[in-house]
Amino acid sequence: MQIRCYRCGWSFALKRDEIVFALEGLEESDAAHYDVRCPSCRQTNKISRDQLKKFAPREEVEKEKPEE
Ligand SMILES: [Zn+2]
Repeated sequence: MQIRCYRCGWSFALKRDEIVFALEGLEESDAAHYDVRCPSCRQTNKISRDQLKKFAPREEVEKEKPEE
């Protein structure tokens, strides 16, 4: 998953493992966003839960209840 820093425009990749970890953390804390630090300028970029889900491995997504 490619993240683009909104501050400096730096593009960096979020690995699958990190996406899974992020989603787990969001569920535990019931937060809507995951904070990821830009490796270039250290700005915190917020990644929404929906964005993470799109890139998460399938089995991680299916654990969640559908919203309908
Ligand atoms: Zn940056």
